[in-house]
This record gives sequence, C-alpha cells and structure tokens, in this order.
Amino acid sequence: EELYGIKNWGAGYFSVSDNGEVMVNPYKDNSSAAVSLMDIISGVRERGLDMPVLLRFENLLDSQISFLNNSFNEAMHKLNYKGAYRGVYPIKVNQQQQVVEEVTRFGQRYHHGLEVGSKAELVAALSVMKDKEACLICNGYKDEEFIDLGLYSVKMGFKCFFVIEIPGELDIVLERSRALGIKPNIGIRIKLSAKAGGHWTESGGDRSIFGLNMSQVISMVDRLKEEGMLDSLKLLHYHLGSQIPNIRDIRSAVLEAARVYAELVKEGAPMGYLDLGGGLAVDYDGSNTNYTNSRNYTVEEYCMDIVEAVMTTLDSGDVPHPVIVTESGRTTVAYYSVLIFNVLDTEKFEEHDIPDKLDESTSEQIRNLFDVNKNITLKNIQECYNDALYYRDEIRDMFKHGRISLRERAFSEKIFWNTINQIAKEKQKLKNAPPDLEDIESAIADIYYCNFSVFQSIPDSWAIDQLFPIMPLHRLLELPKRNAVIADITCDCDGKIDQFIDLHDVRTTLPLHEFKSDHDYYLGVFLVGAYQETLGDLHNLFGDTNVVSVRINGDGTYDLVKEIHGDSVSDVLSYVEFDPKDMLVSFREKAEQAIHEGLISASERPEIMRAYDNGLRGYTYYER
Ligand code: PLP
Repeated sequence: EELYGIKNWGAGYFSVSDNGEVMVNPYKDNSSAAVSLMDIISGVRERGLDMPVLLRFENLLDSQISFLNNSFNEAMHKLNYKGAYRGVYPIKVNQQQQVVEEVTRFGQRYHHGLEVGSKAELVAALSVMKDKEACLICNGYKDEEFIDLGLYSVKMGFKCFFVIEIPGELDIVLERSRALGIKPNIGIRIKLSAKAGGHWTESGGDRSIFGLNMSQVISMVDRLKEEGMLDSLKLLHYHLGSQIPNIRDIRSAVLEAARVYAELVKEGAPMGYLDLGGGLAVDYDGSNTNYTNSRNYTVEEYCMDIVEAVMTTLDSGDVPHPVIVTESGRTTVAYYSVLIFNVLDTEKFEEHDIPDKLDESTSEQIRNLFDVNKNITLKNIQECYNDALYYRDEIRDMFKHGRISLRERAFSEKIFWNTINQIAKEKQKLKNAPPDLEDIESAIADIYYCNFSVFQSIPDSWAIDQLFPIMPLHRLLELPKRNAVIADITCDCDGKIDQFIDLHDVRTTLPLHEFKSDHDYYLGVFLVGAYQETLGDLHNLFGDTNVVSVRINGDGTYDLVKEIHGDSVSDVLSYVEFDPKDMLVSFREKAEQAIHEGLISASERPEIMRAYDNGLRGYTYYER
C-alpha cells in the first residue's frame, strides 16, 4: 500500500482492502460502500469482454462535480461573497458523449455548464444541454456558422457567451448579431502578464497565442461604445494553462484579472461574469508539492484563495461581486477513469553467475572487464561503471571485426551484466549516488509485457512524460520482489513506461510481483479520465479499448451500467481507408490461387477464410 502511495494520490476514492486488493469508493465516509476492482474485473470477464478495459466510475464524476461546487459555495459563504459560482466543463478534456452527458446530468443541481472550443463542440454541447441557468462558454476560433448557432442558442434562452480571443473576431460577431437581430453576450479573453510554471502553461503570459493585450482591450471597449453595444460586454476570461502546480501563480493571476474586471466596470460595461479558465491541478503523484505532477494546494484552498482575491480587489473599488466561472476539466474527470490490463509475459533480468578465474586463452579486453568486476567497492562504483561501459564497447568492436567469437562475446556480456548488477546493489548504500548512475536500476529491471498501448490509452505518458499512478490491483499483502519497467504491445521502442510516481522524485522501476503464466496478473493506471482518451492514436492499429461504466451502489455492490465495445480490427482498418469487404474478396482470390498452385486443398479454404474473417472481427489487443 505504502509502496504505491495510494493513500496520497487516491483522494480517498481508492484504497487497499484487508485482503490486498485495490478498492474503489466514491462515498469516502462510508467504508462499507467500497468495491474491489478485482470483483469488477470478474464481472467484466463474465460478460465476455477482454482486457484492456477502461473503467469509468460514474459516481466519481458525480463526487468531483459536487466537491468542486461545494468547495466554491462554502468559500463564498465563509467569506460573505455576494456573487455565485458557475463552473463549466471544457468538452476538450474528454469529449466522449457519455462523459459530456453525465457531466451535464450530475452538474444540473449546481447549474454546472459547458465550455466549447470549436463548432463541433458547440454542436455537441447543444445536444446535451438542458439547463438554461448554466453557462455555455464559447472559446476558440469562430466562423459565421459557429456564431449563428451560438446566437440562436441565446434566442432559445441559453446563457451562451462568445469569448473574443483575437481582435478581428468582434466584427463578425457584431455583423451576425445585426443580421439575425439577436443581441450577443460578449466576453473578452485577456493576456495576463502573470505566467505560471508547469507542463501546460504556454497558454498564459504576454506571449500566449490567444487573448487580447491591454491596448486591444481598450480598443474593443471603444469599438463597442461606438456601436452602442457596450451593454453586451458581460464576461472577462483568461486561461493561464492547465495543471498549475503553484497556488501563488493562481493567486497573482486572479488579482490581475480582477483589476481588469474592475476597470471594465468603470468603463461602463455591465460585466457580471469573471471566468478564470482551467488550471486547477490534480495531485497525480500524491506529493502535495509544486512539482509538475502535483500541486501545493487543495481544492478548498484554491477556492478560498480565488474568492478572497476577487473580493479584496473589487471591494476597494466598490465593484459588485461577479459570478465566478472556472473551466476545470482535469480535476472534474481525471479520477473518473481507470485503465486496466493484464500482464502477458515478462523478461526477467537474469543474475548471471561468472567463474572465479578465467581461462588462460581469454582475450585481454574480456580479462580487463573481468578485473573491473572483481574490484568493485563502494568508493569506486562510478569508475567501475565507466570502465565496464568502455570495455563492453571495445569487445563489441572486436566482435564486429571478427577478432572474437560469438561465444566469447556472449561470455563477456554475462560479465558485463553481473558488473552492472553489483554496481546497482552498491549504489543503494549511498545517500547521494553519482548522477551517471541515476537510471541504473532500469537497466537491470525486468520487462513486464502488458496488454495495452501507451499511444492509445495514456498518450501524455509518451508525449510529455506525464506520470500516472500505476499499481497491481491484487496480491498486495505479498511483498513485490521484482523491479520492472512496463512495455506495451505496440512493438515501438517508445511504447514503454519507465518513469513512475514517487513522493520525493521520479522512480525508474516499479516493484511488481512475480508473474506466473498460469495466473492472471492485473495492473491499473489511475487518474486517466482527463485528456488521455481523445489524444490517443492508432499507433500500430491498436484501437479504442473496451469501456465499461460502473455504478457503485453504496452497499458494497456495483452495477455495470454501460458497455462500449472497443474497436475491432476491421474498424481500425476502415479508419485508414481499407475496406473490409474488399479485403475479404482479395484474400479469397489469394486462397483460390493457392488451390490452383496445389499449396492448399479446396477443403482447407473455408477454414483459412474463417481465420482471416476472425482476424477482421477480433479485438485489436491480445485476446484470450
Ligand atoms: N479552458 C481552456 C480555454 C483551456 O484551454 C483548457 C485546457 O487547457 C481548460 C479550460 C481546462 O483546463 P484544466 O484541465 O486545467 O482544468
């Protein structure tokens, strides 16, 4: 339990049971509601679904939406804030129909709305949105069709705002609103001078690509005044970036934006809404620090700091408190999904035994490597490491030039790996290991081959080295004795995970249990609900995984409420323009040809065709 830090990153939703299995529980205070993920896997298996499976826990989404809204409402109550909170969910963070539909359903009691960044997202939002008290924020590039649809939604009673991201956009909004005779709700996105640290924060700061600088803001206000449309200016928006680890950056951005808000009120705009964008971070590694994968604040502190900063700024100028909007995506959906897969096989790091003495005939370079091996001490591990690499490379060169045999090279590799293993063991005794030896454990780690694709299911792990908590779902009373890195089944050398969360640093191996081929061994990747599903791609034609929605009932039972079958081989082939029908015809012709050539008999053809057809219909992942 401690080994994997589940208490730190699990947010009370995930824990380990007395019999060593990972439990999920959206009802944090009611421990008898918890359900084992292994029980859910059995249920999924019984229904004939293969791994990998993405589990979506609808109550976790419900809980997170409540948590965010309650935290803002409590902060506002405590500080005697006169405005309200209206969250919106940015569809881009997970656009799956089921997710958007559930967000609006669970969000209705708080008038939690949606944020869209494109025409397609606006069309999707209007299909699920019912609540006319909730906000519908339109960011992104907007063409005539986009604006017309937004204007009609205003006419139908939706609280739809056009956020002007670049100066030229205002003209087309004014033109279309005149043409349709519908008054728009206009917002301005501003570039703040404040800039935050973290992976995803290029969207903030003076040089961010979207948003108006202060002279453009003033020009826009003047233009609206000239057009007699200043009464449409109702919202101020900024987005500093996603996953902002440091609360100080959040606070200074709010202070700056609130000042701009107050000035816009002074200019005569009605305003009423202050939209602070996304950025509320998820504590992926559980360290509660300002590291990239964490945050040095809680959701409650985030809400208190924002409300307080807005009040302090506006009260001094007697500006009425606005509705505070945030566009929190990551925090809303990250906990919701867990990716589950089975281990298919392992390649164990072998502890090679080597002789005490060498044959007389052994070549000099191998002898040198052997001497390094026999002289390792705590003091000279860095030197031994450099020497071992040097002699290994020399021996490889000798092999290339035909000066040693394959058998001799194989023997030298045993000595080399024995040396590296000894150095890694010595390194453990050091408090501050030399930097060159930082990753040595991963060099001698086992490889666990697992049934999933990094590129399809956790693309940020590959693209930007984001860390997600990963752990076995069972056998947690047993000490995991192997140190492993994880390989997916895409056969791409980047299709691996060799960085794992740690409270103080990043670790390069994950402790895992001995894999036995006659026993299933399941691992879970947690907190993958945000961004991963839509950014995933079809690398090596591994498609969407099976998705199963789970409802935890509160009494220790669960229901599988919805299954979405993952892509079949023919699905993914048709995405890349193959036509499965043509493919069958063409393969049948090849089989016919093989009959003519006497390679197969006519009676073998149906079976061969069936194998091809089964391949087309199959799941893209490893099936049992
Ligand atoms: N709003 C805008 C305009 C965004 O670009 C994003 C994503 O970066 C978000 C909201 C969501 O941010 P987060 O997932 O950090 O809450």
